[in-house]
Amino acid sequence: MSIKNNIEEILRDIENISQYPEKVKLIAVTKYSDNSTTEIVLEAGIKNLGENRVQLLEKKHEYFLEKKAEVNWHFIGNLQKNKVKYIAGYVKLIHSVNKFSLAEEINKQGSKLDRVIEGLLEINIAGEESKEGYKLDKLIEEIPEYLKFKNLKIVGLMTMAPYTEDTEVLRTIFKKLKNIKEDLNDQYFKGELKELSMGMSNDYKIALEEGATMIRVGTKIFE
Ligand SMILES: *Cc1c(COP(=O)(O)O)cnc(C)c1O
Repeated sequence: MSIKNNIEEILRDIENISQYPEKVKLIAVTKYSDNSTTEIVLEAGIKNLGENRVQLLEKKHEYFLEKKAEVNWHFIGNLQKNKVKYIAGYVKLIHSVNKFSLAEEINKQGSKLDRVIEGLLEINIAGEESKEGYKLDKLIEEIPEYLKFKNLKIVGLMTMAPYTEDTEVLRTIFKKLKNIKEDLNDQYFKGELKELSMGMSNDYKIALEEGATMIRVGTKIFE
């Protein structure tokens, strides 16, 4: 049980499993950990950290800013429109662009700051009522509007798989996300969609096999 060993194991998995390990980033999800535990992750050389609550992200961001630590903050949770303004100035990537009104707000805040904010479109593939994320047909209707944004740049897709032990179900979901990315690139985004954010502690190895470029891992690092 050591954070450093857990990270090394995950990095080895990336090297061994991915077809393009040089493109893959480990996003260490620090939502369960305090500042000093998070520091161990940074010391292990991981700079991409993920949080799913604006308030907690704000606190950690301020703490590490004061320490002059270099952190790329990834926002991975459901983001409320009225909270975009708090993170717009520094967030590296918003993984959860799942509504047009949210996208408009991100673009607006980016414009105020004269900053291009990068985002991923969160797609609901599993189709469960409880999960956040775009239904594909709804998204396709709205894509022309996305292409007009100047201060929100969509650079890829994200999905959350359901909790299941059934590896074939997971594999199917990850394959679908990759196919959707290729279709959207051909039809609308001209190859600008580079990232596939998929895979968490229990399923990241399958996601790596299916082409993930970002895996979001929490529990497995801190257990
Ligand atoms: C918490 C969380 C993760 C990490 O989950 P683990 O199972 O702890 O690895 C990944 N993605 C999102 C969106 C999360 O909220």
